[in-house]
Amino acid sequence: MELIDIGVNLAHDSFDHDRDAVMERARDAGVGRMVVTGASREGSPKALALARAHPGVLFATAGVHPHHASEYTDECHAELLELHAHPEVVAVGECGLDYFRDFSPRPAQRKAFERQLEIAAGNGKPLFLHQRDAHDDFMGVMCEFEGRIGPAVVHCFTGTREELFAYLDRDWHVGITGWLCDERRGLHLRELVRHVPANRLMVETDSPYLLPRTVRPQPSHRRNEPMYLPHIVEELARDRGEDPARTAAATTATAEAFFRLPARG
Ligand SMILES: [Zn+2]
Repeated sequence: MELIDIGVNLAHDSFDHDRDAVMERARDAGVGRMVVTGASREGSPKALALARAHPGVLFATAGVHPHHASEYTDECHAELLELHAHPEVVAVGECGLDYFRDFSPRPAQRKAFERQLEIAAGNGKPLFLHQRDAHDDFMGVMCEFEGRIGPAVVHCFTGTREELFAYLDRDWHVGITGWLCDERRGLHLRELVRHVPANRLMVETDSPYLLPRTVRPQPSHRRNEPMYLPHIVEELARDRGEDPARTAAATTATAEAFFRLPARG
């Protein structure tokens, strides 16, 4: 099994003391490549630095998460443009809307989202998107850019059937995390994931968040790691009624094409 974790917050400070060991455990588990999420003004350059230090293994996104939309100034925009000049930055984002937490005011969220879509329209890179409890406004903003932006993935998909089909109808991709393994709030996903075509489906841990609740034994520290991605793939494969090797191969091929990753030497 050779997997790609398309969403790992490897620059997070909870990995500062053992990041190399985390990467080694991931590799031993078959997670050969990871896309490090850049989600803030502070975190995006760190994600790029990690990708540059581990060529061919780590790649980065550069963006500002809706939680941090208040920090999206003209200087921040210029910094993102600079980060996107580097080939290791393979996607624009994490960006989008989050009306569940509302950590930044909604108008600021929409503005930061639009400005990042402008970046994607300018450089043609794929989009790494976040949407929570903001479906209508999210679709509204995305529709303004229809025909001007490249491929898009709605990462950590946790939404409804209607939301899923709205995305698939527009040819967008979805990322599935260990949310699937949460018997309290992820049960509906068990049925929905059958409807995602293999060429629109990718997998991610969202480490250090979202430790899959079905991992045994549960680590005492509760920190998620990319080495748990095969567990998510096994659960996903069971729900899709397919062999895990098939799910693994398909999600890897889809991620390679989506992020335009260089061929492995
Ligand atoms: Zn997110």
